[in-house]
Amino acid sequence: MEIFTGNFTQQEPLPRAALDAALAVLGHGRLHRYNVAPGEIAETALLEEEFAAFTGARYCLAVASGGYALACALRTLDLAPGSVVLTNAFTLAPVPGAIASVGLVPAYVEVTEDLTIDLKDLAAKIDTTGARVLMLSHMRGHLADMEALMAICDAAGVRVIEDCAHTMGASWAGTASGRHGVIGCYSTQTYKHMNSGEGGFLVSDDADLMARAILLSGSYMLYPRHRAAPSAEAFEAARWTTPNISGRMDNLRAAILRPQLADLPRQIARWNALYQTAERGLAETPGIQLPHRPQAEAYVGSSIQFRLPGWPPARIQSFVAACAARGVELKWFGAPEPVAFTSTHHSWHYAPAQAMPETDRILSTLLDMRLPLTFSTEDAAQIARIITDEVSRA
Ligand SMILES: *Cc1c(COP(=O)(O)O)cnc(C)c1O
Repeated sequence: MEIFTGNFTQQEPLPRAALDAALAVLGHGRLHRYNVAPGEIAETALLEEEFAAFTGARYCLAVASGGYALACALRTLDLAPGSVVLTNAFTLAPVPGAIASVGLVPAYVEVTEDLTIDLKDLAAKIDTTGARVLMLSHMRGHLADMEALMAICDAAGVRVIEDCAHTMGASWAGTASGRHGVIGCYSTQTYKHMNSGEGGFLVSDDADLMARAILLSGSYMLYPRHRAAPSAEAFEAARWTTPNISGRMDNLRAAILRPQLADLPRQIARWNALYQTAERGLAETPGIQLPHRPQAEAYVGSSIQFRLPGWPPARIQSFVAACAARGVELKWFGAPEPVAFTSTHHSWHYAPAQAMPETDRILSTLLDMRLPLTFSTEDAAQIARIITDEVSRA
């Protein structure tokens, strides 16, 4: 019986260029983004320029985490306390958490079998809740039909903030994920597509919102040191009225991210090779249903999901245990209790309880697996063989 011996949470070492850049920053000691020598441009400011160019955005702000980026994006909208914000019922805890953290109320939208937001339910929830903001989570890298989604939101006057924690480097019909809504948010936490331990970005073309985000992040009156930022006029009124809620990125993290950003296209190709190998290995397995990935979606396959429709919880539980015994770590979104990073709307008690029958039906048989770049395509193929074998035994 085949056993897989790889580690599902082990990242690759950072590239040599990142180590050199980190040592340079440590060597001169100017870690704070506004601490620069005469004529020097901070690593953080350079990274923002490069990430803006990577996404095609006019403006970019680097911050302390993806969760900070989400909450900061909501703050820029200046909503009345208690306002309802629509979001995906299928996402991870930082998303409803960001909404609740700024005194707003999450209202969930159902998921489809392809793991994207249900556009019919979105239109219905816009009507029934009166919400004027959608925090859209591209959960596990699956992009909804963004033209159809934006048509619904634009027609209803709903502003969209995109959570791109799993879609950094992905695009829909040639437009980068994070560039359809008014603000795009990203994470550079260790388990995402670039690794600075913790970190995040906001991107936008909106000068007023970005000026507010920069002030919120703790720029004091040093915002002219930003380069991927709006001009001074955009800050004129906001600098008197915007509270400082420090969440800046520092030059050490920026220094190790810049070489990773330059290398991201190559890494995306490697992730997709792993994904497509695993997908091919599972595609013909009776009982397994894989999400359909539309032609317009250019994804980053850093994880893979599949469903076992019709399987009762006890059967899935023993299947997950059997795979674990053979070294294959699967996460089940149907577990009654939250486990490690995996949770569902049922455990987010800070938000009002909401009946989400379709989401519950889909999540009850949904399994999820990371594909770190420390795996080879042979590893991905072996993992798929083990899963196929255990599905047939269960
Ligand atoms: C990781 C993650 C975040 C938040 O990122 P952090 O940098 O960990 O705060 C937000 N949304 C989703 C879907 C995530 O997986």
